[in-house]
Amino acid sequence: MGKLSIKDVPDSTFEGKRVFVRVDFNVPIKGGVIQDDTRIRAALPTIEYLRGRGARLILASHLGRPKGNRIPELSLEPVANHLSKLIKQEVKFAPDCTNAAPEIVSRLQNGEVVLLENLRFNPGEEANDESFARTLASLADVYVNDAFGTAHRAHASTYGMAQFFDLRLAGLLMAKEIEFLTKVRDNPDKPFVVILGGAKVKDKIGVISNLVDKADTFLIGGGMSYTFLKAAGKEIGNSLFDEKHFEKVKELLEKYSEKIKLPVDHYAVKEITAGAEKKYFEGGIERGWIGVDIGPKTIEAYKNAIKPEGMIFWNGPMGVFEIDDFAAGTVEIAKAVRDACKGGAKVIIGGGDTVSAIHKAGIKDEELTHVSTGGGATLEFLAGMELPGIKVLSDKNG
Ligand code: AMP
Repeated sequence: MGKLSIKDVPDSTFEGKRVFVRVDFNVPIKGGVIQDDTRIRAALPTIEYLRGRGARLILASHLGRPKGNRIPELSLEPVANHLSKLIKQEVKFAPDCTNAAPEIVSRLQNGEVVLLENLRFNPGEEANDESFARTLASLADVYVNDAFGTAHRAHASTYGMAQFFDLRLAGLLMAKEIEFLTKVRDNPDKPFVVILGGAKVKDKIGVISNLVDKADTFLIGGGMSYTFLKAAGKEIGNSLFDEKHFEKVKELLEKYSEKIKLPVDHYAVKEITAGAEKKYFEGGIERGWIGVDIGPKTIEAYKNAIKPEGMIFWNGPMGVFEIDDFAAGTVEIAKAVRDACKGGAKVIIGGGDTVSAIHKAGIKDEELTHVSTGGGATLEFLAGMELPGIKVLSDKNG
C-alpha cells in the first residue's frame, strides 16, 4: 500500500493551515557559508507546492551531531538566509523550537515560511521524547515528512510527533524516493545488477539477502569485498576485514556463488595516504598490504556485466576514492553506469559517498534515473526493513 503524499489531498488541506515539514537541511557549512546546497534545493518543490496553496510553513531539520547541545557552528540560521534567496521571500528563523517558535508561528501569514533552529539542539529529538514530540506537534495542523535520509530513525520529528496528527503526508521528495526504491526492491526491471562497495559489510548484507532472488548479479568492490574474498579462501593481507559478519558472508557466498562476483585483482598500499607506493596483486593480497582499489581486470569484468538494459542499483565506492590515486576503479564504474543509463538501463544510485563519486567522475545527477538522497535509509529500505519515518505516514487507502 502506498503512502499519502501532499499531491493526493485537496488543496484546501493546506490553505491557511500551519503545515510542519520535516526537511533534510543537513548541509556542509563553513564559517556561516553553505558549501553545497543540493539538499536545500531538493526540498524546493515541496516548499513551493505548499506555499502556492496558502500553507503557513514550519520547516524543521537537524544539522550535524550536536547531541542535545546548542553548538553555534551547527545553527541553521545561515540556511534560513540562503533559503530566503532561493524562494525570493523572507524566511523567518525561530532560534529555538520550544520557546520562540510558537509566537513566530502564530504570526505567520498564508504562504509565509519559518525555519526552526537545529532540532538536535534539543536532547528530546534523538531520544524521541514524548513531551518534545508534543511540543513540536502543537505548532502545526498538518504533518509532512520530506526527509527521506532520516526516515530510518525514530526521532521526535520523524516519528514521535507524527502520531499526534490525523494527516501525515509524504513530501514530493519522499514520495519520489518511495516510488523508485519500491520498484527496485519489489519489481526491478531485468536483468537486475546490484553493485555494492564501501567499507561497512553490516549495512550491505541485508540488501544482498533481501534482493538475492530478484537480482541477477551482485558486483562487490571496496573495503567490504575483502571479507568476501577471505570467505572465498583468498589471502587479503592487512585489508579491511569484518570478523563479526564473516560467518554470514560465508553463508551467502556458498549459497549464491553464481550471482556474487568478487574482484580478481587489486591495488594495495602499506599505508592509506596519498602518494603511497601502490602494488598490483592478482588473486590474493600479500601480508602487510592493504587493498585500496579494484584492478583493471576487475574493472573490465564489471564493465562487461553493466549492460545498457534492465536495472542497476549502486551503493558504495569501489575503493578509497577520496584519494585520487585510489579512485580509478570507482570512477570507471561510475562512467560505466552512466553509459548504461544512456543506452537504456534504469540506474539508481544511493548513498552520500556514491553520489560524491559520481560527481568526482564528472557525471551529473540528471544523467542517471534516480539519485537517492538516503544512505543508511536507502540500504535499510532495500534490505526490506520497515522505516519508522515511512511507516508512520498515512496510507493511501487507509
Ligand atoms: P560505506 O559508508 O560503508 O559505503 O563506506 C564508504 C567508505 O568506504 C569510503 O569513505 C571509502 O573510502 C571507504 N572504502 C572503500 N574502499 C575501501 C578499502 N578498500 N579500504 C578501506 N576503506 C575503503
